[in-house]
Amino acid sequence: MTIEKLIIANRGEIALRIHRACHEMGIKTVAVHSTADADAMHVRLADEAVCIGPPAAKDSYLNIPAIISAAEVTGADAIHPGYGFLSENARFAEIIEAHSITFVGPKPEHIRTMGDKVEAKRTAVELGLPVVPGSPGAVTYGDEAKRMAEEIGYPVLIKAASGGGGRGMKVVPDADSLESLMGQASSEAAAAFGDPTVYMEKYLGNPRHIEFQVFGDGNGNAIHLGERDCSLQRRHQKVLEEAPSPVISAEERARMGQICADAMAKMHYRGAGTIEFLWENGEFFFIEMNTRIQVEHPVTEMITGFDLVREQIRIADGRGLSVRQEDLEFRGHAIECRINAEDPRSFLPSPGKVTQYHAAGGMHVRVDSGLYAGYAIPPYYDSMIGKLIVYGRTRESCMMRMRRALDEMVVGGIKTNIPLHQALLADPDVIDGNYTIKWLEDWLARQDAEAKG
Ligand code: ADP
Repeated sequence: MTIEKLIIANRGEIALRIHRACHEMGIKTVAVHSTADADAMHVRLADEAVCIGPPAAKDSYLNIPAIISAAEVTGADAIHPGYGFLSENARFAEIIEAHSITFVGPKPEHIRTMGDKVEAKRTAVELGLPVVPGSPGAVTYGDEAKRMAEEIGYPVLIKAASGGGGRGMKVVPDADSLESLMGQASSEAAAAFGDPTVYMEKYLGNPRHIEFQVFGDGNGNAIHLGERDCSLQRRHQKVLEEAPSPVISAEERARMGQICADAMAKMHYRGAGTIEFLWENGEFFFIEMNTRIQVEHPVTEMITGFDLVREQIRIADGRGLSVRQEDLEFRGHAIECRINAEDPRSFLPSPGKVTQYHAAGGMHVRVDSGLYAGYAIPPYYDSMIGKLIVYGRTRESCMMRMRRALDEMVVGGIKTNIPLHQALLADPDVIDGNYTIKWLEDWLARQDAEAKG
């Protein structure tokens, strides 16, 4: 089995990232794109391009028959789903494999298991991962739920089994509000995800978000590539990520990383995955697993020198893991700033024509973006238009270089969140690595209060 031509079933910077990995590996690429993306950089660079539908994602990037047809028409033998869109759709993976096309991703059953949060948590327990204390499965309001909440201790968190994107969660402060909040959570989950199932978890007051990158070969071998700290979030959306985490020692990384790798080996996981934890007072608590490449994967690449997308493709191609755990070294520090087309204060999207563009450069600076001068950012998709990733031998030198690189970036004609990143990198808490998942929202609230005087 050798992949010769691959469909990139995505858009934006990740489509370009996949194209680049393929091009280096001698694999031809096919960009499948909506009418709104005909001028996108990855479409221009791909060996072939097929328009698969109108701008709305449901008619193009989520249109499974159109993508499969494009694979058949172009004779492609593999599909890489990127992140978002169809990347965690088990049905899509099954359909691809039923057409004898290679899916660059995990086994469909693992996508399905990890996509259901109740199942995912049950599996995590079985695999020996530490989880947030909570209900063993789905819960409905009643004596059982009341007893469980007492046992876990208030506040508890009610989460939707089919939830995602940080939606469908309710913090219950006390026993009096349990019934009404569980009811609300369940009906909101039914409306948003078509599934009223909810479960209960201990609400952690002020944790960090720390995730481990893993790879499995699908045959019982697995490795970890250390952690990323993604605690700087707004509305559960990551804004700036770094690796390694400022609070994790080398011993702790090796210990926890091994637990994650062992879990993946045990389940015969295939491909790239990320095991997400909340971390509080030195303890890890599993919250979910993402069965795909993640936006923030480059910070791991910077400190390991390991090409994660290339590895995904190699594994899909049946070539196994290219590296052993003992050969992996973690060196230096990396930070990623997500560049969004949005107002840095109001966060309102700011699509439109990019009149000027200059990417930062220089030593240890990487820009993953499809932007170019004259490109019109379409209003139909996510506002992330690129990522600025910087490496340094120390965390301090990495931050210095990131400040310099942010100052160099020019994206004219639209608003971006570059000023937000500049402000963050000047803040003493960020400089000290002293932040949790609550920090950014509190900081933004303080900035707003100051602006209002
Ligand atoms: P989603 O799939 O919707 O992103 P997650 O389970 O990954 O859901 O949780 C999203 C975010 O919600 C986490 O990054 C964290 O900020 C918060 N969160 C989730 N579980 C808890 C918990 N038990 N206690 C406190 N915060 C939580």
